[in-house]
Amino acid sequence: MSRLTVALTKGRILQETLPLLAEAGITPAEDIFSSRKLTFETSSSDVRLLILRGSDVPTYVEFGAADIGVAGKDTLLEHGGDGFYEPLDLGISTCRLMTAGVVGKQSSNGRMRVATKYVNLAKQYYATQGRQVDIIKLYGAMELAPILDLADEIVDIVDTGNTLRANGLEPRETIAEISSRLIVNKASMKMKHQQIEAFVGALSAAVDGSSK
Ligand code: AMP
Repeated sequence: MSRLTVALTKGRILQETLPLLAEAGITPAEDIFSSRKLTFETSSSDVRLLILRGSDVPTYVEFGAADIGVAGKDTLLEHGGDGFYEPLDLGISTCRLMTAGVVGKQSSNGRMRVATKYVNLAKQYYATQGRQVDIIKLYGAMELAPILDLADEIVDIVDTGNTLRANGLEPRETIAEISSRLIVNKASMKMKHQQIEAFVGALSAAVDGSSK
């Protein structure tokens, strides 16, 4: 039997993915969090895990370096294209992709500056609103940008809203509801159909079980 390589997103998504995998009968052969390794064998001899940055997961799956991936919908939307299938919503790491700005400060009707790591998504969103914006790419701490007048608004993911509030910002418009998704390489879906069907089925049952 051929092996399935499954690319996971490290951080919060990994924390919430592992219990679902365990429910599906797949546990890492060693503790992921106390190891510096990037690949892990599992209790299932035909499943191997890769631990990646979220934004690299769609790339690994699209090019077939991984058969299956777990990534946030925000990351998938930003990546774009139709290079993989998305058969399952895992219902974990839910949040919203939103615009935000300084509390009480009206955003100008003219050309705005928007700071974000979601450059493609932000461009698309403001274009659909008919608004002209200059996008400033940042890699973190987006919340600082409006405070220091680097940008009028930010586009970022919001869960409780505590991070925005702690930095004097308010959420404005919701661009998309986000959760983590299972993605599958298109060729793998054909070549390893039975294995992938069994994997998706087991995870789907785990998702159904955990939402009860
Ligand atoms: P919060 O203060 O609860 O609104 O969370 C805000 C910060 O937590 C965001 O700026 C993100 O960096 C991070 N965050 C929130 N939800 C998620 C998620 N589902 N996946 C990854 N990071 C998240």
